[in-house]
Amino acid sequence: METRFKPDQLDTPPIQIANNILRTCVHCGFCLATCPTYVLLGDELDSPRGRIYQIRDMLEVGAPKDGNIVKHLDRCLSCLSCMSTCPSGVDYMHLVDHARTVIEEKHTRPLPERLLRWILAIVLPNPALFRASLVGARLAKPFAGYLPGRLKGLVAMAPDKTPKASAIDVPATHAATTANGETKRRVALMPGCAQKVLDPSINEATVRLLTRLGCDVVVAPALKCCGALVHHMGKEEQAREQARANISAWMDEIEAHGLDAIVINASGCGTQIKDYGHMFMGDDTWAGPALQVSALCCDISELVLDIGITAPQPFAKPVVAYHSPCSMQHGQKLKTQPIELLQAAGFEVREPKEAHLCCGSAGTYNIMQPDLADQLGKRKVANLSAINASVIATGNIGCQVQLAAHGNLPVVHTVLLVDWAMGGPKPSQL
Ligand code: SF4
Ligand code: SF4
Repeated sequence: METRFKPDQLDTPPIQIANNILRTCVHCGFCLATCPTYVLLGDELDSPRGRIYQIRDMLEVGAPKDGNIVKHLDRCLSCLSCMSTCPSGVDYMHLVDHARTVIEEKHTRPLPERLLRWILAIVLPNPALFRASLVGARLAKPFAGYLPGRLKGLVAMAPDKTPKASAIDVPATHAATTANGETKRRVALMPGCAQKVLDPSINEATVRLLTRLGCDVVVAPALKCCGALVHHMGKEEQAREQARANISAWMDEIEAHGLDAIVINASGCGTQIKDYGHMFMGDDTWAGPALQVSALCCDISELVLDIGITAPQPFAKPVVAYHSPCSMQHGQKLKTQPIELLQAAGFEVREPKEAHLCCGSAGTYNIMQPDLADQLGKRKVANLSAINASVIATGNIGCQVQLAAHGNLPVVHTVLLVDWAMGGPKPSQL
């Protein structure tokens, strides 16, 4: 794609990077058919190619001309399905990330919109505030019909019961529990923020499974949210501040005792942490540690497959419909690993049609764009329900909540099923 940046613009690293990305797009349009918003709306402006043109125009003048580009970029799920399809290797992720930062810095949104974003950016990454807000939302549920648009959806989504905080999430080292006392690896677990409030059983199953497989599992002190939630809102400094806290915490651990891996069980967080190296590129202090952390980061399915599981419990197991989160299949390119892991644990796994399409969760998307998210949620659950499975497995808490809200099949994290098959408790959802 042709670009017309001025020489002084090209002196700045973010524009250099954006310019290189823009110039790889050959306008072929292959990405249109796999973009969820283009599939739903049929409007080129809501397609990857259309957005790339709009981003180029915005970056060339340095700010959004009007609210139009903001509307079409806000509708983008950052699902990265377009990156899986693109034959030219266009790095849409870093392009749209930079565009969102420019919008956040140069565009003034209407007050209610700013207020909602401000609240989400404060509440969601903070487990104590998020827990309190879920209690408040549950109390407001009977009055949801009287609330305005997004607030109504937000309150309606609150679970009927908020589980108690788990002791597993407190900073500690959980020692390997192998019969011969052997420790194969020392790994750090990212306990997450929203996930540990909504479903603490995911971290519990992760620690049980890993310690049984011979890992010492460290929950390091002073960890924060991975930064993905605010990063996708264009709040880049807030995202960096959260990332720096995590990098510091894990570097302390690496220097004190060494780490073989940093294990993530929410694929949205995994995509973000694997990108810390890019986030701090050119930063004299943080670039090296960020790259080290990103290199150690792996999804739980990658780690357990690498360690290997044998002799799952021989009980009759339900047929599993596997939903691959976008951050897993497009963000981290982990398409087969969670399926192979479930199969190794003795489950029959089926995949739905349109497996590449987003379920509509996408971080805060189901709050910010409730109509599109609802259409995608219904479409995904219909496809998952059509394959005659008894349970849906997935690897990201956002997808788990979205799928559970749109259907009747139980939805569990993959690690709960694998832990169950390897001697852990039956997931409470089944
Ligand atoms: S598939 Fe890639 S090269 Fe083709 S239009 Fe889409 S982003 Fe551009
Ligand atoms: S990230 Fe997803 S929604 Fe956004 S342009 Fe790409 S395919 Fe479409």
